[in-house]
Amino acid sequence: MHILIAEDEPSLRENLQWMLEMEGFTVVAASDGLQALEFACLAPPSLVLTDVMMPHLDGYGLVKALRETMATSTVPIIMLTAKADRRDVRMGMNLGADDYLTKPYRRDELLAAVRARLARKASLDETARRLQEEAREAQQRDALTALPGRELFGQRLAVTLKQAPAENLHSIGLVCLGLDGFSKVNDSLGAAVGDKVLYEVACRLGEHMRDARDSLRYDCVARLGSDLFAVCIGENTNLTALEESSAALLQVLAQPYLVDGHTLFLTACAGASLFPMQAADAHGLLLNAETALHHAKPVGPGTVRVFDTAMNLQVARRLQVHNALHAALEQNELQVYYQPQVSIAAGNVVGFEALLRWHHPTLGSVSPAEFIPIAEESGLITRIGAWTMRTAAAQAAQWHAQGHGTFRMAVNLSVRQFLGSDLPGLVRTVLEETGLPPHMLELEVTESLALHSVSSTLATLHACKALGVMLAMDDFGTGYSSLAYLKRYPLDCLKIDQTFVRNITQDIGDAAITRAIVAMAHSFGMSVIAEGVETIEQLDFLRGLGCEEFQGFLFSKPVPAEEAVKCFAGFMPPSAPLWSRP
Ligand code: C2E
Ligand code: MG
Ligand code: MG
Repeated sequence: MHILIAEDEPSLRENLQWMLEMEGFTVVAASDGLQALEFACLAPPSLVLTDVMMPHLDGYGLVKALRETMATSTVPIIMLTAKADRRDVRMGMNLGADDYLTKPYRRDELLAAVRARLARKASLDETARRLQEEAREAQQRDALTALPGRELFGQRLAVTLKQAPAENLHSIGLVCLGLDGFSKVNDSLGAAVGDKVLYEVACRLGEHMRDARDSLRYDCVARLGSDLFAVCIGENTNLTALEESSAALLQVLAQPYLVDGHTLFLTACAGASLFPMQAADAHGLLLNAETALHHAKPVGPGTVRVFDTAMNLQVARRLQVHNALHAALEQNELQVYYQPQVSIAAGNVVGFEALLRWHHPTLGSVSPAEFIPIAEESGLITRIGAWTMRTAAAQAAQWHAQGHGTFRMAVNLSVRQFLGSDLPGLVRTVLEETGLPPHMLELEVTESLALHSVSSTLATLHACKALGVMLAMDDFGTGYSSLAYLKRYPLDCLKIDQTFVRNITQDIGDAAITRAIVAMAHSFGMSVIAEGVETIEQLDFLRGLGCEEFQGFLFSKPVPAEEAVKCFAGFMPPSAPLWSRP
């Protein structure tokens, strides 16, 4: 920071320089306008003091040139004029000078003018910087909700965490909130309604934090992605408090949304992490919270998960499985096992469910419950699913050709196979290639299908149905069941999930749900198969409800083809001691 002087009279110049340097300013002195301009271009000064009458380039010329040069266009200029002629002064000011002093000036006069100009310039610079900052921040805000976006939020969080010790803020909780099945809102009611819901979500989070502000030391709400929000809570003293705060946020979001005459029910999942206990910086804290959310989502709508370090191990394991899965198909590491499905009334095998098994040379046996979600996420499921359908259908066709009669071969389908791949085309090709009669192939779909575009999944289901195959709803009762969808899907069969079957004889609630599912399925003209039947008591109970079929360890685990084929022979009449209560 320096002051530039332009004065051709040596004694005046030296005197001026001396007075300013005495006050602590750094001064660069030029003996005419041209030299001053050169100095100014080399290093833009914080202020210019210029004489009017000078050789080569006079004061007016200098003012004009400085104003026209980008780097000096806003530098404060004070003109020093010997003639107290109003015309000279006006000309200087018109050219862009900020102030003038009439020679001879007093020392205090000069210093007051210099200080006033420097202060004004500093305040203008500060305003410009703030406006620039605000403009940049506006760009980093989400256009729909005006909340900070990911980048701005990350920057603010970093600053907050850095200042936390100085501000005596001992812990800060970060909660990531992901709306459950939000795409369904967009798909079924349009993006305009979706936008209003997101706006409402932002308002509710903001209001909730405002209400809680009295007891909080710090709070901030952000929108990290389309249906992903973040809330920062200071101060959360421990993980239990953080979990409670997260649950309270989910409660706020779970209230019905009234948008354009629609009443919508929406839930969210939450993942949370605590600073500084679990992360030392903003990046780590955000990563933890999102990892926790990633773990909450598969558990089901409305789940809260607070980060723990085991989650990171799980992330590493996921990556390992993901990498190994790529080679699994080519290396013939996948195998299909078959679990018999049995008629409860007749006791004979009426079908099989094809279930994948994977044995990796170093990872060992990896459960489908672990690798199927990873295959779904990576998109590999399309190829794996096609291979499974081919293998299972070919196996069924072979058993059929060997004279084992008519039975169903059930194949699990992932939602991903409905989206972006030609599922009816695959089914048609598999049936043609294997020669399996269409009604012997059953496709198992899950309720998560309802979370995606209803019209397109419905069309795909009908196209498959038109080929003559059977359709079953797997794991019924665990997902986002909606009777409305169920009625529209061309289903032949409902599979009651094993979580209900497990406690069916002890838990009145599970028994009631199962009874209701059976009754409803029958009223829709579907048959019911119970999964995971392990005891005779469970089987008897299901028989009492009118459930048609079962599969489970009571009869057989999923087994390789050479074992499974023996089940045809192992026909058990209903009167066999195994099936009746001792
Ligand atoms: P799912 O389709 O509901 O399959 C039934 C699961 O219950 C199987 O687990 C089966 O081994 C298990 N199970 C059968 N009977 C009993 C029983 O009596 N007790 C208990 N505790 N469990 C029983 P598995 O084989 O580990 O498969 C898990 C899930 O992985 C399957 O659930 C299915 O969703 C998925 N999956 C398996 N193979 C495939 C496939 O080829 N494609 C797709 N998309 N998913 C698959
Ligand atoms: Mg299944
Ligand atoms: Mg199932």
